[in-house]
This record gives sequence, structure tokens and C-alpha cells, in this order.
Amino acid sequence: MKAQSTAEMVGSRPSSRISNASSTPETSQSPNPALELCGLSKSFTLGGGLFKRGRTLGAVNDVSLRIPRGQVMGLVGESGCGKSTLAKMLLGLTSPTEGDVLVDGEPLRGADQKALARHIQPIFQDPYSSLNPRKRIAQIVGLPLRVHGIGTAREQATRVAETLDVVGLPRRAAEQFPGQLSGGQRQRVAIARALIMRPDIVICDEPTSALDVSVQAQILNLLLDLKTEFGLTYLFISHDLAVVEHLVDRVAVMYLGRIVEEGSREQIFSAPRHPYTQALLDSALTPEPGLGVPDIGLGDAMPDPSNPPSGCAFHPRCPKAQAICQQTRPRLEEFRGGNARVACHLA
Ligand code: SF4
Repeated sequence: MKAQSTAEMVGSRPSSRISNASSTPETSQSPNPALELCGLSKSFTLGGGLFKRGRTLGAVNDVSLRIPRGQVMGLVGESGCGKSTLAKMLLGLTSPTEGDVLVDGEPLRGADQKALARHIQPIFQDPYSSLNPRKRIAQIVGLPLRVHGIGTAREQATRVAETLDVVGLPRRAAEQFPGQLSGGQRQRVAIARALIMRPDIVICDEPTSALDVSVQAQILNLLLDLKTEFGLTYLFISHDLAVVEHLVDRVAVMYLGRIVEEGSREQIFSAPRHPYTQALLDSALTPEPGLGVPDIGLGDAMPDPSNPPSGCAFHPRCPKAQAICQQTRPRLEEFRGGNARVACHLA
């Protein structure tokens, strides 16, 4: 595998196109959003056999979102609402049943996994399980460079050291093992591993929910600093609106696989229209937000996604439900001149 030169490697970022084995010049003025989800759906078949049809579970249903370059989109909803399945589709780890993901206008479907990894990188929830305990930090952080054949061994070591600096880890951490680091330091290692390829887009899947509250703020501030420094675009997935409040430009609220409200941070936090968003906000105002899945005060647990309620899927839990809500699913309608969307008959 041909190694890239130092000039290509240090401080450089890949082209913004994903189908780019032969690379085109980066177009920082590209009119396309960094990431666009177009009618994305993912369903699974449960059970079934030779003489029995299985049930269909619609994990993600007709999700459309646009994330402009350099912005942070928060994706919020309870555990099991489809957020992580959505993240897997964006990372190319599972294929959509319907719809497309566009990265800078280019469809992700069929894209080369290696090329994709240079544009989109994940940061997962649990730094304890996502780092190999038998590898030194330098090996963990530098692995993507080795996989992609970028730079010489010396250049790779230089990039690892620079990236550890960027995420606020001491250089001696390079020779340590994950078990020798604190939870916050391990998450910094996971962030360094995501950034070593200088991606355009980072999918942050509950990156602070396994950390102590005091460490959460440090990691969120670090993510904000890195966004500015590297011009990153984030999709920030969380069950907790309080966590995303200071980070996001826009918020999409997901319930049972569908977006039920989407808008700017100001609109979602000051004038939410969907009763589910309002319940999530109420739960975010509890004395210790961020501690596990919040009690959103809606009584019944989230319905079984393989047997969703008729009409508006939220109606069994909605304090404002009307007769129409049991029969007709509300469409995701635009308001505020197209700058926000909500799916509720009463909104
Ligand atoms: Fe509640 Fe009806 Fe609105 Fe659904 S459509 S959120 S059940 S008021």
C-alpha cells in the first residue's frame, strides 16, 4: 500500500468527496450540506420461519435531515427510539432499507468503507469497551493511519503526539494502556482516534453518558473547541436535551423511529411545539440531568416498535391526545418559513 507524503499527512484533511480514490480538490464553498439524510428507513424482520411470516420492526422511518457544514445537529430521544440504528447507517455499518445518506452531495450507498472512514468518524458512548485494553494508547490512536497507509512510522508517531496534544492528553499517555487512564482520559483517547484522520463529520453517540457529571462538561467543552479548530460537523446523539443545549445549532427529536420535531436550539428550548419535546425538556430540568435515562414523567414505557400504536405513535402517552390522534398519523409539517418542523395535530 502506498504511503502518503508528510505534506499530505500533517495538518491536512481529505477531500470533501467520498467517492474519491482519485481525490478532487476540497471545495470549502460547496453548496451542499455536509450531511443529508433523505427519507432514511431501516426495518428488521423478527421471528418467522418456514411457515410463519416474521414481524417487521421499523427501527427508523422516513427520516430526512440536513446538517450544514460546521454545524451541530442534536438528535434526541429515549433509549430504543432508533437513534443508534440511524448512527450505524451513517457510518456505513448497516444499509438503509430505503432512502439515502449524502455526504457533501455524494451518496454513501456503495461508497468504499475506507474512503468513508476518512470523512465520517464515530465517538461512542462507552470508552471502557471501545478501546482495546491490550494495546498502548499510541497504537490505538494511530491505528487508522496504519490501516490507511498514511505516512511513515515516524510521521504517524508525530501525528499521534500532535493529536494527543489537541485533545488535552499528556504525551506520556502514548505509552500507557487504557486501564491506566481515567474515564475522561479514555474518552479523550476515543476522540483522538476519531480525529487522527481529520474527518469532516463526527457522529457522537452519547459520548458523555458513561462519564461522571463533572467530567461530562470537560468533554463537551473539548468537543466544542475541536469543532471550531477543525471546522467539524457533528451529529450529536443523546437521550438528554440538557446535555445538548450548549452544543447544538439545531435539534431533531425522535420518537419510535420518526422525527417528531426539528428546529433551531432557540425554538426547541424556548418554544417547543410537540408534547414529547415538552416532556423531554421537563425531564431535562430535573435536579441532576444527565444521570442515566431521564424519567420523562409520561407514565407508560415507550411502545414496542414492532407493534406501534395506530395514528400518532405518541398518543398512548400524550397528555393532549384527541380522538383524531388514535386514527391518523400527523405529517411532519414545516413552520417558521420552513425553518422548523413538527408532527402533531395540535401544534
Ligand atoms: Fe399528542 Fe395528538 Fe399531537 Fe400526537 S398528534 S403528539 S397524540 S396531540
